[in-house]
Amino acid sequence: MNVEQRVAIVTGGGGGIGSALVARLAREGARVVVADLDADSARAVSERGNADHPGSTVSAGADVSDTVQIQQLIALAESSFGPVDLYFANAGIAGAPALDASERDWDLSIDVNLRAHIRAARLLLPRWLKRGEGYFVSTASAAGLLTQIGSATYAVTKHAAVGFAEWLSVTYGDRGVRVSCLCPMGVNTPMLSAGKDSGDALGRAATQAVMNAGDVLEPDDVADAVLAAVADERFLILPHREVLDMYRQKGADYDR
Ligand code: NAD
Repeated sequence: MNVEQRVAIVTGGGGGIGSALVARLAREGARVVVADLDADSARAVSERGNADHPGSTVSAGADVSDTVQIQQLIALAESSFGPVDLYFANAGIAGAPALDASERDWDLSIDVNLRAHIRAARLLLPRWLKRGEGYFVSTASAAGLLTQIGSATYAVTKHAAVGFAEWLSVTYGDRGVRVSCLCPMGVNTPMLSAGKDSGDALGRAATQAVMNAGDVLEPDDVADAVLAAVADERFLILPHREVLDMYRQKGADYDR
């Protein structure tokens, strides 16, 4: 898909990878709703986008663990720019490192890292199937492919996010709904820094394992990989493999 003039929503758009995605989409001529739980960071990213590309972005504070707030994001996109062409389910949380994480921690990770993807897809699919076109891009993680990486709630929910993306692609790919699922290893963002500085030894170890597994990428590298996947004409069921290939080319020693 050529993203020029296309309408996109980026959740977690105020964070490291999300803000790079927004900047890249705006540069390519897309219209972007920048959504984040942290309304101030979403606004700042949107203001930067508009400074470089006037009229390219609007922002909203939104919690993706609430279906109504995702509905409101879609309504904002439609009223500001038109029908949503691309949805980037990128918001995510590191969660808790051990199996004995509290029920609340498990619920929160399942909500943000998995159910938020399902919520958005349920809302957008009817629209996309009617139009015969739509693109769902989720940011999972290498921890969604490699069980030895990532803390408990993170690895489990990211595996499920990969499974959901694959299911979506296999089920609706022949009806114009395209899916990409990004599975980067370490990316230099506030999430990685928080993991390195975590007060929890297991959390620090999980972050260290990620950093040992390959070069830490910059958010712009990930945004480049995402836009390359989106531009690809093929239906991509597992484009995250291409991200893994990127790491392999850098000499990382791991496999599924
Ligand atoms: P980040 O912490 O910089 O960004 C995450 C953003 O999501 C933050 O701005 C946060 O406010 C937002 N967010 C959290 N909960 C939310 C909610 N309920 N509703 C809306 N927004 C919410 O981290 P990042 O590294 O940019 O993470 C982006 C995505 O990339 C995440 O899904 C993460 O799991 C994934 N990822 C990150 C790495 C890494 O090493 N940084 C590696 C693989 C995958």
